[in-house]
Amino acid sequence: MKKQNPKQRIKNFNEVALGMSLEEALKEASRCLVCKNARCSAKCPVEIDIPRFIKAIKDKAFNDAIKIIKEKNNLPGVCGRVCPQEDQCEGACILNKKGSPINIGALERFAADWELKNASRVTRYALRTEGAKVIVIGSGPAGLTCAGNLAKLGYKVTVFEALHAEGGVLVYGIPEFRLPKDIVKKEVDYLESLGVEFRKNFIVGKTATLKELFGQGYRAIFIGTGAGLPNFMNIPGENLNRVYSSNELLTRVNLMKAYLFPEYDTPVNIGKKVAVIGGGNTAMDSARVCLRLGAEKVYIVYRRSEKEMPAREEEIKNAKEEGIKFLTLTLPKRILGDDNYFVKGMECIKMELGEPDSSGRRRSVPVPGSEFILEADTVIVAVGQSPNPVFLNATPELKTGKWGRIEIDQETQATNIKGVYAGGDATAGEDTVIAAMGSGKRAAKAIDNYLKTKKLF
Ligand code: FAD
Ligand code: SF4
Repeated sequence: MKKQNPKQRIKNFNEVALGMSLEEALKEASRCLVCKNARCSAKCPVEIDIPRFIKAIKDKAFNDAIKIIKEKNNLPGVCGRVCPQEDQCEGACILNKKGSPINIGALERFAADWELKNASRVTRYALRTEGAKVIVIGSGPAGLTCAGNLAKLGYKVTVFEALHAEGGVLVYGIPEFRLPKDIVKKEVDYLESLGVEFRKNFIVGKTATLKELFGQGYRAIFIGTGAGLPNFMNIPGENLNRVYSSNELLTRVNLMKAYLFPEYDTPVNIGKKVAVIGGGNTAMDSARVCLRLGAEKVYIVYRRSEKEMPAREEEIKNAKEEGIKFLTLTLPKRILGDDNYFVKGMECIKMELGEPDSSGRRRSVPVPGSEFILEADTVIVAVGQSPNPVFLNATPELKTGKWGRIEIDQETQATNIKGVYAGGDATAGEDTVIAAMGSGKRAAKAIDNYLKTKKLF
């Protein structure tokens, strides 16, 4: 897929990947073997019939292609752009044996963009509003998927969202240059066309409690409140000026549009030398945002090796093309401040790989005496996020486990409270868009079963 040139793109927030042309999409689709027992589909968490939609593209039946995708996936424009396809459908494609899998993500994006450009939505469902009332808390990919699937089944769904825009991490976390916000908006519009109602600026647990909402005639609830609480390293110096959590940086830049200052009045104070701690998508996004905000040198500081980095392969490649320096096998020990309590550097220690830990990744251990000072005037901490506590604190009857994650039955997503289901990062910790969508889909099916069994439909 063509991309903006790195020298040019670090000066703007426009989308980096430019999508496939018609000719490119047809050529790529014609390489697909349309396998009977398609391994690619088996690896897709929402079970898209991949060979069938690719064949439709090959036959230039683009209406059919998007319809096939939307049988299973309400957010194709998002997934085509941000799914870690190398670990899922593309990683399982039989053509890996010959060295080059089908670029399934780009074809999915092609079909989604085709639908958006050809204004009339081809995948409308007849609205049925006689069904029971269901609540979805949070409008991230888990909530949006659960809401869309329930609406297709005829339920009256209301999504309560704490922020002033729908989409969760898709709008406040992932930057415009990876996922344009008008794509997310159009996917949300599609759900509205299915009859889903959105109520923004509504914090469940503060504006109203779970109990109060049940009292308003809702029959079931899905919790998709995500993992929006940033983790810190708990090292000295984390309270200095110009130390940000990735969450704060990205929310200011994406949701509050700091990159358009002074047109938007939420500036963000970034220096010239930035150290970003972490190796996931959040770290890559933070580093690339800082570069676009005018930083001259940006480092990724990661305690394991590049092989263990959880970020999408494509984003690691993009970050490197843009000139971001990778300091792998490096662990920050403390952040150093000047007399005015502004960051002036970071003491780090070199690491080496040891035995695998419980996650299967090799543990990193410090190399004695290898400490060094990294010159930096800004530090971004991107070392993971934990479940959002506001709702959890207001709902002590809900059972949670390790790191405050909501406990669920893995098959149905049911919590310990009757009629209450949960999914996405609120249950799994920081995961992926498609995993969150998979859980929303399972929950919608289980809610439908529950309401039918209880004759509440
Ligand atoms: P979220 O997307 O976090 O949405 C939760 C929503 O609930 C939010 O809108 C929040 O405001 C709302 N909410 C919370 N509490 C309340 C309340 N009390 N009342 C009402 N609303 C509430 N994954 C990928 O697959 N590919 C990527 O490239 C990728 N990049 C990422 C980049 C960044 C910067 C981050 C942070 C994550 C990234 N991820 C990526 C991970 C992915 O975005 C998440 O796994 C996914 O968004 C989780 O979806 P969710 O619906 O569970 O929660
Ligand atoms: Fe096509 Fe690869 Fe899927 Fe086979 S495994 S259907 S070749 S995308």
